[in-house]
Amino acid sequence: MAKAIGYAAQAADKPLSYFEFERREPKADDVEIEIAYCGVCHSDLHQARDEWGGTVFPCLPGHEIVGTVTRVGNDVTKYKVGDKVGVGCMVDSCGTCISCEQGHEQYCENGFVATYNGEDKHLGGATYGGYSNRVVVREDFVLKIADDQDLAAVSPLLCAGITTYSPLHHWGVTKGHKVGVVGLGGLGHMAVKIAKAMGAEVVLFTTSPGKVDDAKRLGADHVVISKDEDQMKAWRNRLDFILNTVAAPHDLDAYMELLRLDGTMTLVGVPASPHPSPSVANLIFKRRSLAGSLIGGIRETQDMLDFCAKHNITSDIEMIDIDEINDAYERMLKSDVKYRFVIDMKSLKQQ
Ligand code: NAP
Ligand code: ZN
Repeated sequence: MAKAIGYAAQAADKPLSYFEFERREPKADDVEIEIAYCGVCHSDLHQARDEWGGTVFPCLPGHEIVGTVTRVGNDVTKYKVGDKVGVGCMVDSCGTCISCEQGHEQYCENGFVATYNGEDKHLGGATYGGYSNRVVVREDFVLKIADDQDLAAVSPLLCAGITTYSPLHHWGVTKGHKVGVVGLGGLGHMAVKIAKAMGAEVVLFTTSPGKVDDAKRLGADHVVISKDEDQMKAWRNRLDFILNTVAAPHDLDAYMELLRLDGTMTLVGVPASPHPSPSVANLIFKRRSLAGSLIGGIRETQDMLDFCAKHNITSDIEMIDIDEINDAYERMLKSDVKYRFVIDMKSLKQQ
């Protein structure tokens, strides 16, 4: 076993603080990664504060991991020492169920192993995530990152990128589609960039008037202040697809009625408490669908990384030191993120 350090929450009502723990020695099919940067997802906050229930403490979050390979097991063929790599929200799955066979490990019938707060099958207890100096992961759950890429700005693609790319791709977003994105945070700003690169006309819905110029710079063709009823009305029955990234409960009908016949709104935000139930009439009169989507499979994540590299897409980031993580969480709750915090792991020192 190898000693590792990181930042973890000891309880739901405690801030994250310095924490020492063990990582396993790389097994035959494992890759050991020295973590350079880790993005900060709103899910990290939900889980560190046990907002979804089921958090095992200590909770060491982080699933937007990028870094350099430092050791590989004897059977590893895809990676070698020195390679730039990433790890997203999953570190393992059964590999044999129908979902895994189809490359949808996130829907593994036997439950995938989450990068943090998952079941650690090697050491027992919960898995520990990327707010740390190193991680050991099966090579099949490691992603290749091109050498010429800005590692810090790529890290949010491992969750925010794939979580938005997967539904946009699955629902066939393409040229000629009018696509709504709700919320301009970590996921939302990636959705705007990716939907635009897929050829869509993008309408960004925000509660923050101060984000209008940024939204346009990021690629939105139109920006709607969602609290303004007249602006919302102007989009009724017009959108082919909506990706809703909001992390808090809100009125879904205000968006459902913007969909045209057969349009779909897909939820990726996971609020701590439920949304008010949407109106049935809004669904049936235009055969609209309300759907959900969870991250994306490993193959699809590599496709997303390649798609983003080809279209020159990375995340707009604000780099922080690891001891600023608790302030970053508070700012995230105020929708004050431009547009993803990324922890510079050089700031993590043995104490
Ligand atoms: P984030 O950076 O905090 O962005 C969320 C955005 O939602 C905010 O910037 C804000 O945008 C908007 N918002 C926040 N509170 C709101 C409210 N009360 N009413 C209306 N809009 C509000 O969060 P994130 O990291 O993008 O994550 C978003 C959600 O997705 C979280 O719940 C997270 O757990 C979830 N998630 C799901 C998956 C999945 O696989 N499905 C994967 C990753 C994350 P404006 O200022 O523009 O309004
Ligand atoms: Zn995430």
